[in-house]
Amino acid sequence: MDKKAIVTGGSRGIGAAIVETLVREGFDVAFSYNVQKTMAEAMIERLSQQGGRLAAFQADLRQFAQAAAFINQAKEFLTGVDLLVNNAGITRDRSLFIMGEQDWRDVIDTNLNGYFNTTRNIIGYFYKNKRGCIINIASVSGLNGIAGQTSYCASKAGIIGFTRALAKESARLGIPVNCVAPGYVDTEMTRAIPEKHIHDIIAMIPMKRMGTVQEVADLVAFLASDKARYITGQVFSIDGGLTS
Ligand code: NDP
Repeated sequence: MDKKAIVTGGSRGIGAAIVETLVREGFDVAFSYNVQKTMAEAMIERLSQQGGRLAAFQADLRQFAQAAAFINQAKEFLTGVDLLVNNAGITRDRSLFIMGEQDWRDVIDTNLNGYFNTTRNIIGYFYKNKRGCIINIASVSGLNGIAGQTSYCASKAGIIGFTRALAKESARLGIPVNCVAPGYVDTEMTRAIPEKHIHDIIAMIPMKRMGTVQEVADLVAFLASDKARYITGQVFSIDGGLTS
């Protein structure tokens, strides 16, 4: 059976590890990037040399029309799709009393509306084929309140609600919809956190370290596999015990 995946935000960080892992698992992959074209091209070059079949497309997923165009380009390249991984996300952390409207909107538009924009453009196709799988990358920030992250927490809690409701809508067609909720993972996103806070964060994590992108990608690969076909509407924290 062919395995064909769309991954958003595959140019770096967790998304890049997901793309690489799915390619190793035998998937053809189409992924999106927003601005990091060079990084996306370097990934294609490297993974193609390892025998992967993959393509990257530029899209600002805050825009519904761009998400629709990306999904169509991806579907055409892959000649079909079995899996959508919504991963593209941003932070604009600051206390609410100094948060600008644009920062709030950018986070909600990327992290929550962006997931709607892609999913809305593929869900009919999955329903028609009675086949498909959706994995949404949320965050422990969608489960716990974190000071300085009102916009991010709201967007990620929204994704969790979106996932649970869509899982119920899609279950009778056998289409699983799940969330992966990472804790702190070593990527550019967390490298933006000031060094003095990193020390406190690691002290809070029961396993006393950040997660790796590979650990998150391995969980995604499991949820994308036939071994996980009876799992839907769930949120899987991967956080070194942070939410335990
Ligand atoms: P990175 O900052 O490393 O990468 C973000 C990705 O999202 C990039 O591919 C970027 O594209 C893409 N992106 C950003 N804005 C847009 C946009 N408007 N339209 C399309 N694509 C966009 O993030 P991480 O790998 O750290 O995070 C990936 C996901 O995991 C996010 O949803 C994040 O919230 C979540 N997460 C991360 C955690 C962490 O500790 N790192 C913890 C919990 C959850 P480009 O490269 O072109 O800019």
